[in-house]
Amino acid sequence: MESEAGNGKAGKKGTSESKGRESKDFIRAIIEEDLRTNKYGGRVHTRFPPEPNGYLHIGHAKSICLNFGIAEEYNGLCNLRFDDTNPSKEDVEYVNSIIEDVRWLGYDWGDRLYYASDYFEQLYEYAIELIKMGKAYVCDLSPEEIRQYRGTLTEPGKESPYRNRSVEENLDLFRRMRAGEFPDGSRVLRAKIDMSSPNLNMRDPVMYRILRAEHHRTGNKWCIYPLYDFTHCLSDSIERITHSICTLEFEDHRPLYDWFLDQLGVYHPQQIEFARLNLSYTVLSKRKLTELVNGGYVDGWDDPRMPTLAGLRRRGYTPESIRDFCDRIGVAKRESVVDIALLEHCLRVDLNKRAPRVMAVLNPLKVVIENFPEGLVEEMEAINNPEDPSMGTRKVPFSRTLYIERDDFMEDPPKKFYRLAPGREVRLRYAFFIKCVDVIKDPNTGEIVELRCIYDPETRGGAAPDGRKVKATLHWVSANHAVTAKVRIYDHLFTVPEPGAIKDSDFKEFINPESLIELNNCKLEPSLKNAKPGSFYQFERQGYFCVDTKDSTENSPVFNRSVALRDTWAKIKKKQEAKS
Ligand code: ATP
Ligand code: MG
Repeated sequence: MESEAGNGKAGKKGTSESKGRESKDFIRAIIEEDLRTNKYGGRVHTRFPPEPNGYLHIGHAKSICLNFGIAEEYNGLCNLRFDDTNPSKEDVEYVNSIIEDVRWLGYDWGDRLYYASDYFEQLYEYAIELIKMGKAYVCDLSPEEIRQYRGTLTEPGKESPYRNRSVEENLDLFRRMRAGEFPDGSRVLRAKIDMSSPNLNMRDPVMYRILRAEHHRTGNKWCIYPLYDFTHCLSDSIERITHSICTLEFEDHRPLYDWFLDQLGVYHPQQIEFARLNLSYTVLSKRKLTELVNGGYVDGWDDPRMPTLAGLRRRGYTPESIRDFCDRIGVAKRESVVDIALLEHCLRVDLNKRAPRVMAVLNPLKVVIENFPEGLVEEMEAINNPEDPSMGTRKVPFSRTLYIERDDFMEDPPKKFYRLAPGREVRLRYAFFIKCVDVIKDPNTGEIVELRCIYDPETRGGAAPDGRKVKATLHWVSANHAVTAKVRIYDHLFTVPEPGAIKDSDFKEFINPESLIELNNCKLEPSLKNAKPGSFYQFERQGYFCVDTKDSTENSPVFNRSVALRDTWAKIKKKQEAKS
């Protein structure tokens, strides 16, 4: 990753990789170099700066883990700061969800919860200062005219006819803008930089606009609002951030970031850009996610199919698994698409060790054990998690009538089907061998409705004293003891790996119609009766499931499948390893 070192300051490239330390990403390399040279007096101070105009998604988690993670690693601090300069799109609902999500991920900003809107007065003073220095002017061009005057990548821009207003006139007009004397959109304050700069961001960018919109914090106090580029660098400066880490699309904004700070001669943090996370089979753009929510394509921001942290949490993702994921993907300067299988793999790795294993039949088929006495209940001993003996064991009731998975029986099995079939013997997990002796069908539809089996009482615990073997072990649930529950099987939200990148099409065309399948008659072992919302389990042979926090009621849990057991990522990795 060393070739990707690039903090933009010419000449700093690759200063610290070759010193024999274990490989660090380019951002940590910059920070270590700054610590070595004592650039910020040994301080490391980062921030995570969300705009409260949507819920956080897994891409934001990458930025959160990076900013808070770096602060932790280098004994520094990380602020949570809302970049709330766009009142028409912001809402306290988003503020609250963001606070909840960052905390859920396991990070703590201490008493440093800030809002850019808290700096409005100070930002206004900075703007006045720039006007006094002849570095900012009030412009009366319409938004459309400003766009036309800006020029293009190949053509220089044209100077605004208002560019050379006197300082006095600018001061007067800007104060009157604040006082509410002019209608929305009629005037703006612009930085006076260079209309022929090859960087369009430097062509007299707008600093303030007139907008009568109630702000979720400042109410109607302001009718002018500062724009992002002006606000962001100064907020960083006010908070004495050392390393202002952001995504690559801000690379071209860095000269402007630097310009404002240099003109004003204030404390100057260093902006560093990294590649944003893209994840396959989903979209990570707030605009697109908002479209999915508002268009009713999903059931809200916390729909378990959404890549939002609220959605992932409801799906059953743990903060540990998400932090592990962010750690594994690392940071780089080049954009790429990360395989969603890696995220799923991280969850399996985490839950494999922690989730209690239980038996649950998703598509039940009734089995009657003909030689098992009516009314008798045997308590079978089951292991809660073979990965962790300290999780102990539990008792699972076994009786004459059971359910097994419909898929685990075939009347006319093909060659490689080893599970139950007429005349064949299999093991029931933690119980006995059973053999199928008869198949009962609905006389009208021909559907199999029941299997008649016999069991061998000598095989208690799953082994035959005579040493005979069976080829399959099935999970099962005692019918009389079963908890009937709704289980939701989730799959990727989109059918194609990059739904947002397909030419001439709308990403919503690729929504997976089978991204949610509801099963309403699942039979769970009785220990799940009081499963607490938010708790997670491995359903043996099926996957990891969690109890839905919204739709479960007392004694009636609803389960969401977090992830299936089959680990495609582990397979991909094995193949790669075999190749190299
Ligand atoms: P979106 O593009 O989804 O609308 P945004 O950049 O507008 O996101 P912000 O609230 O401004 O959303 O993001 C807060 C921080 O998270 C920013 O520093 C931004 O760079 C970072 N961030 C946003 N999306 C990603 C991503 N996909 N990967 C990594 N970091 C991201
Ligand atoms: Mg942004």
